[in-house]
Amino acid sequence: MIIANTISQVRDQVRQWRREGLTVGLVPTMGYLHEGHGSLVGKAAEDCDRVVASVFVNPTQFAPGEDLASYPRDFERDCEILEKQGCSMVFHPSVDEMYPDGNGKTDTYIEILNDMPKQLCGRTRPNHFRGVGTVVGKLFNIVLPDKAYFGEKDAQQLAIIRRMVRDLSYGIEIVGCPIVREPDGLAKSSRNIHLKPDERKAAAVLYRSLKIAEEMASDGEKSSKTVTDAVRAEIEKEPLAEVEYVSAVDSLSMEPVETVGKGTLIAIAVRIGQTRLIDNCVLNTI
Ligand code: AMP
Repeated sequence: MIIANTISQVRDQVRQWRREGLTVGLVPTMGYLHEGHGSLVGKAAEDCDRVVASVFVNPTQFAPGEDLASYPRDFERDCEILEKQGCSMVFHPSVDEMYPDGNGKTDTYIEILNDMPKQLCGRTRPNHFRGVGTVVGKLFNIVLPDKAYFGEKDAQQLAIIRRMVRDLSYGIEIVGCPIVREPDGLAKSSRNIHLKPDERKAAAVLYRSLKIAEEMASDGEKSSKTVTDAVRAEIEKEPLAEVEYVSAVDSLSMEPVETVGKGTLIAIAVRIGQTRLIDNCVLNTI
């Protein structure tokens, strides 16, 4: 597996692959990889001749006071996981390589101007999706992949990237990949490492609460308020959990819905101690 730290190294290598007629898949990550990331790389390796994974903790998607500095990192271990999953090249740039003005500063952003980035996580993280859109757009321009792979765990991010690719005519196929979970249902996340043992146990409440939404919907409940109230009540039974949001939205537009049905996304964000966790399910599909 090639380790590239510069944009020009990535471009030269991808150009070479293109000359050989090979297809290229991209998997953007912030590192500290787990089986969720591994599944994206594995799928990309199945679909494409070559796979580029990026490992970059992107400063423009963190607000001051968020966990940029404490975001977990272990590049050596990441490389082992990537290589095992069939990754051809890992792009591991410095902040200055990605943002030449230094300190993650940029004067140019990619930002969706409708309400999509303002819903769900956007309520407490107002510039988060502007940072995500910008870094993903930069990675698309650097790698010029045929396909790019994103987890359904970050459902709002996936919807925003699909919209951005459509609006800006990127011509890249966006592939959504299912959420990979721990045996007790907790969605795998790099941030799970921060959970203390009692918090880790408590964190299983996220998945348990989503199961309640699925059961209610399959029993015919149509009111989004009734469903989200029940999800919230389940989470609130857990003393270590603090709800940030429980929302029922359309899975493409992220607009809140009053009636739940096929295609409704139930999305939650919950703080367990200092750690903010997100999870979701799409009703009638899992
Ligand atoms: P991150 O490193 O957290 O920015 O995530 C990089 C990519 O991996 C994103 O597309 C995430 O949605 C995806 N991802 C993270 N956790 C999971 C998971 N548990 N299952 C599937 N995909 C995931």
